[in-house]
Amino acid sequence: MLATPLSKAIKTTSVYLKRLKELGIETVEDFLKYFPAKYTDQRELCQIKDIQVGELSTLRVNVLSLNAKQGFRRHMSITTALLGDETGSIEAVWFHQTYIARVLQKNMRIIVAGKAKWNEKKGRMVLQNPIFEMEKSEQVHTARLVPVYHETELSDKKKTSGRLSSKWIRDKLFPLMSHADHFQEFLPETMRTTYKLIPYSEAVRSVHFPKNEKTLELAQHRLAFDEIFLLQLAALYRRAQYRKITRQQEKAIPADWELMKTFTRSLPWPLTNAQKKAIYEILTDMAQPYPMTRLLEGDVGSGKTVVCAAAMLSAVKAGWQTCLLAPTEILARQHFQTLSKILKSFEIQPVLLVGSMTEKEKQEVSEGLKQGKIAVVIGTHAILQERVGFSKLALAVIDEQHRFGVRQREALRAFGSPHILHLTATPIPRTLALVIYGDQDLSILDEMPPGRKPVETHVVSEKKRAEAYKWIAAEIKKGRQAFIIFPLIEESDVLEVKAATQGFERLQNDIFPNLKLGLLHGRMPTEEKRQAMDAFVKAKTHILVSTAVVEVGVDVPNATIMMIEGAERFGLAQLHQFRGRVGRGSDQSYCFLFPSSPKANFLSNGGMIQRLQSLAKYHSGFKLAEIDLKLRGPGQVYGTSQSGIPDLKMALFTDASTIQQAREAAISILNDDSELLKYPGLKEKILEQQNVTADAS
Ligand code: ADP
Ligand code: MG
Repeated sequence: MLATPLSKAIKTTSVYLKRLKELGIETVEDFLKYFPAKYTDQRELCQIKDIQVGELSTLRVNVLSLNAKQGFRRHMSITTALLGDETGSIEAVWFHQTYIARVLQKNMRIIVAGKAKWNEKKGRMVLQNPIFEMEKSEQVHTARLVPVYHETELSDKKKTSGRLSSKWIRDKLFPLMSHADHFQEFLPETMRTTYKLIPYSEAVRSVHFPKNEKTLELAQHRLAFDEIFLLQLAALYRRAQYRKITRQQEKAIPADWELMKTFTRSLPWPLTNAQKKAIYEILTDMAQPYPMTRLLEGDVGSGKTVVCAAAMLSAVKAGWQTCLLAPTEILARQHFQTLSKILKSFEIQPVLLVGSMTEKEKQEVSEGLKQGKIAVVIGTHAILQERVGFSKLALAVIDEQHRFGVRQREALRAFGSPHILHLTATPIPRTLALVIYGDQDLSILDEMPPGRKPVETHVVSEKKRAEAYKWIAAEIKKGRQAFIIFPLIEESDVLEVKAATQGFERLQNDIFPNLKLGLLHGRMPTEEKRQAMDAFVKAKTHILVSTAVVEVGVDVPNATIMMIEGAERFGLAQLHQFRGRVGRGSDQSYCFLFPSSPKANFLSNGGMIQRLQSLAKYHSGFKLAEIDLKLRGPGQVYGTSQSGIPDLKMALFTDASTIQQAREAAISILNDDSELLKYPGLKEKILEQQNVTADAS
């Protein structure tokens, strides 16, 4: 039975049971769902005469003789066996495995798999610690596609006996495989036919002990599909339920295309096609009788602000309130300025609400919102934290959503479930976004406004540092400004601040004594940060030395130089964000990447330089994100804790076609039956999943 505890199903000791439990494996079902990490292909048998040193060989042999002895050193037991086939003989040696002498017998026919080493003393090849088993109708450890599990070395690391080896796992799992038949099939038959999915129980059997590549591939496909499909189904089901409870006929804002024409005409330039499309999608969505949850993704400088201005204008003209939340005060102020300009022609004056305002000022804004006198408020989290009441909020725009947690989203729901538009400059390829943000709709600005000059990007070696400084000084003399970014120190933000502060002093005193430098870091009080930023925006400082805090949004058109220290410590996507701080004006801009030291990264030096070089080559954030994803995986690229990237075991984020199919399948199931009453098995599975994610957040 699947629910049988392993203590009853396999013969083992409490030590092993404990190790299994540490992996979350307690029942037969858990064990069967512990899938291999990889396989070694041992299908080809070779003959003794063909053995090559260092290569894995699988041999069918007879045991010619056997010898067990204690070595010189204490506890050193050595077992040797002479193995032979028609083409010759070879010696096998096992250390520390006394049981072997008990299991092996002279004249036994076995299959062994192992690597041959050259033994200098004996002047011939020896197989060291090979795996062996009797010849059977189906081999488990040799002469097949052999499953390899994540081996574990949990509690006592020093003892080699503390391991749960792949061999041990195979030994115990193989006899349990017949239990896989008890798994209930949870995918509807029609769906399995449409997407060519083998039955679940068959997939479980084949993924552990595949007959060949084809069966393995089918099994992996089925299990990967399941994983994505259930995520998608859960997300879309959650969204359907949310829409049901928040059904709000009156907040449906009919799309006013005439107003949009006037809006477009009020702008100093035509909208890009991507912007038009996004505005169309957003307005159409806001016209629905349920709250929008949409993500607007666009590279730095792709013009997201105008798109959200269009949405905000629509809400206000329909008589509603709208708010925009930014992650930092600096950004809130910048949004405030931009939006004030854009909305001016419509006689709408936004109001700012940030933490550094006086209590009285905040109180006034709060009152104005409650009484419905203020239509547009722009601010930081403070808007939420200080329990501001809105009288009729219909649209909340949230900038850089990955910095906003689930809790903030919940807080917004408390304001009467407004339409929500998340903005992000983090380019997440569409397929990945579907996996991560399955319950949101997606609008992508994949086109830049015309006339942008790409930022000229160089990876600069240490030798050229002095030259670079000289060049920067000359550019500043011509009236430009520069950012110098100090590296991210993940272990400690104190060290990070220290590095930036010391860098700042060195640059100011030794390198640029005649220029004015500003400093910006995360530990500065908000007011000081604002002043530092402000001084730079107003060109009172020439160079802004900063930690990663300038990452998002800030707009300084006169800044044309971005210099990044310890560049390899950042991901490509993040470097691209920094680079986006320059190139906002009409002048040619430059980005210089300084790697900190040749060995600063786990990647080899060459790999690191090559990774940085891709920034010189590509200027699309989406392209760079794809490269970064392949090199480092989504957890590294987007940060696991903040972005809610699920821990996929079988599926790959890069497998676009499986993701697409799984999404399509989830949508068609919910279209057929939004309550999943016809699919109790599926419903149970996604509710299970929901509990898991709820616990995690
Ligand atoms: P994002 O927030 O996506 O990084 P912004 O909204 O700040 O980008 O826009 C970047 C710059 O491009 C702004 O100066 C804006 O005025 C300008 N801009 C936006 N849309 C267009 C367009 N269609 N044509 C020309 N310039 C544009
Ligand atoms: Mg922006």
